[in-house]
Amino acid sequence: MKIERIEVTAVRLPLKAVLTLPKGASRSLEEGKRVALVKMTADDGTVGWGESGPSRRWSAETLESTVSALRDYLAPCVIGHDPFDIAGLHQKMNQEIAPGLDPGQPIAKNAIDIAAHDLICRSMGINLQSWLGAKRLDRISLARLVSASTPDEAARITMQARAEGYRGFKVKVGHEPDHDAALVQAVVGAAGDGFVWADANQGYTLEQALRFCRRVEPLGITLFEQPVAMHDIHAMKRLITATPMTIALDEAAIGIPFVIELIRREAIEGMAIKINKTGGLFYARQMCDLALNAGIKLVGSGLMDAPIGFAASVHLFAAYGIDLPVDLNGPQFIAEDYLRQPLVFEGQTMAVPQGPGLGIEIDEDKVRAWRLPL
Ligand SMILES: [Mg+2]
Repeated sequence: MKIERIEVTAVRLPLKAVLTLPKGASRSLEEGKRVALVKMTADDGTVGWGESGPSRRWSAETLESTVSALRDYLAPCVIGHDPFDIAGLHQKMNQEIAPGLDPGQPIAKNAIDIAAHDLICRSMGINLQSWLGAKRLDRISLARLVSASTPDEAARITMQARAEGYRGFKVKVGHEPDHDAALVQAVVGAAGDGFVWADANQGYTLEQALRFCRRVEPLGITLFEQPVAMHDIHAMKRLITATPMTIALDEAAIGIPFVIELIRREAIEGMAIKINKTGGLFYARQMCDLALNAGIKLVGSGLMDAPIGFAASVHLFAAYGIDLPVDLNGPQFIAEDYLRQPLVFEGQTMAVPQGPGLGIEIDEDKVRAWRLPL
């Protein structure tokens, strides 16, 4: 089998709300959720879909950069290649756009990777999770992202989310430790028996992070995501020894070489996995295997993924048995998408989509309707 054709379409999906991070809104309402869709067609007519979902205030890629990387470099270099040779596809992509500490424009490469996985699974008539070869779970639980400026607002969001069926709550912190601890306390108070953790998105200095830990440990918080700058190995190590909480690295767990360095330096004990940052399922699987073998706690995450990235992540997280609620918040923010049938949720849990490939069907009329002239 050979990859015969790759079409790249930029789309803008409308948002219900804007996600606010310590450094500001992740994007504007008008901007919407912008993704680059990849339709990959093999020489026997089998089609697979992938997507790049950049979040330009989280990492360095933009919609425009992913579209140009895909159209001008990545798609041309994999045309004619066997889609079953996923390792070879990445080798070719890495020859075109060099990896650094991360896999080198990983969000763009992610679209080719997912499309190839979808395509080969469809050609065999099997589900992606079956191809991943692990069925530790058949369903994952979604967390509600709580991004609030006051404790009252945090409590209100949490109570409403609980009424909607959420049992996991991730609190965005990284502003000021005492204020942030009050937000966490409000969420814990409203969350019932739900699981609550905090994510600072690199927002703290070491001193601020230590202060925050002291304030929230008595609240029973056991997980704290990316407290300090991604390159600050010294601070991550200090935090691990200073608090009984699991420090999970997200922005720092950017690629396998750096994760191995963090393991060597005993500076990692938890890791957030998101397929966009790893360059797709090929590297995400390797990072999950590394984590499982090294005793590192796995946390499921995303970049406000639209349905293709969302579905691929559900397959991966279920395969690797990620049993904490996962921060796949696309459905929380994205108002409309490009699916023929909507994703089905049950009390804010999602069963692994069944059927060939990703287990979802793309409505190309909707893709055309949301298309951006790029
Ligand atoms: Mg994070």
